[in-house]
Amino acid sequence: MNPIIDAIETKKSGGELSDNLIQDVVAGYTVGDVPDYQMASLLMAIFIRGMSYKETVALTRAMAESGKTYSFPECVDKHSTGGVGDKVSLTALPIVAACGAPVAKLSGRGLGATGGTVDKLESIPGFSCNLSEEQFRDQVEEIGLAIVEAGDLAPADAEIYALRDTTGTVDSLPLIGSSIVSKKVATGAGHLLYDVKRGSGAFMKTTEEARELADLLVRLSEDLGIDARALITDMDNPLGSAIGNALEVRESVLLLKNEPVPEDLKGEVNHVATLLLELKGISDPEHAVENALASGAAYEKFSEFISAQGGDAEALEDLPVSAGISDVRSPRAGYVVRFGASAVGRAALALGAGRKQKGDRIDPGSGIELLVKPGDPLQKDQPIARLHGEREAERAEQLVLEALEISDEPVEPPPAIL
Ligand code: URA
Repeated sequence: MNPIIDAIETKKSGGELSDNLIQDVVAGYTVGDVPDYQMASLLMAIFIRGMSYKETVALTRAMAESGKTYSFPECVDKHSTGGVGDKVSLTALPIVAACGAPVAKLSGRGLGATGGTVDKLESIPGFSCNLSEEQFRDQVEEIGLAIVEAGDLAPADAEIYALRDTTGTVDSLPLIGSSIVSKKVATGAGHLLYDVKRGSGAFMKTTEEARELADLLVRLSEDLGIDARALITDMDNPLGSAIGNALEVRESVLLLKNEPVPEDLKGEVNHVATLLLELKGISDPEHAVENALASGAAYEKFSEFISAQGGDAEALEDLPVSAGISDVRSPRAGYVVRFGASAVGRAALALGAGRKQKGDRIDPGSGIELLVKPGDPLQKDQPIARLHGEREAERAEQLVLEALEISDEPVEPPPAIL
């Protein structure tokens, strides 16, 4: 029987797909022999019937091996499942590189509230994530930190993800797990930390769902040769104050220069950097992280990395942001309970910080600065957020007001690390 028909029939009746069958279907889809309508049918059968762990490993391996693969066994990497204001890669990675843990990272552009790490870095004049394989390797060797745009790695995942996005089959645990881990296996970093976000601004809405995904990511990674751990972190509120590409780089620069930033951001970045150093076996990691920040070594490493990839490191001191500014004010007095990440994310998107559809043009200087965080007291008419950007500013203001939950009683800020 034709492999794709065999796979659809097997999955439809709740059977288990063999490793060879999964391999044949993924290879066939990658070269265009399997049409979208048949792959969509198989994905829906997987969505409904699920996959055994053995099938999930085979799917992950088949997607990882569908294109070019790299090998950086000595390097560390981190992966976030995505959230609003998440600038942990921009900050934790230069810190660990400054502490002697080399980083080889492949990043993407984003869909949704703000861009991905590539979009954020490209808000720095001249910066490019377009490195050849040789340039990438040389830079990892020379300065211990390089970030390139994921191009031909795991091409099967890119094709399958695009199909899932339009066929209601994204939110399936084995499909999410295999999609994420296939790219990590293809990248080849030896030590990996997953930051699984949970909350209104994340894929996983509950801690239980996040834990299930975290367990799967670690198990798949370990079985495919990567030393991995996972964290579950809060995404009911945006991380830090800045949401938007250049704004997030500005906040990252403050953190790397050891200047004041919101506690949730500082705590999470320090924790991620510490765990990455632990994975790499570096002794006294907490102290190493503090030292890299206090001595200026972390910021120096970031500037070196920006210059190596064509960016103007001097521009980091005052990165341009959109001149169209308006403040949103509190409707009443009280205490901030929550600044809902999902609505704040949609507000940033309305201002032009993200993409509604693949290929949309981002306005890198647009976004939001939150002026209050959970637990803060509020006066009526106090500015709560500053909007940068002119696209749909009224809609953004309305969404920011919707996002703000106020209590009459004092509130404890929620923990960032769960
Ligand atoms: N991120 C991915 O890379 N893949 C998924 O399926 C979901 C989130």
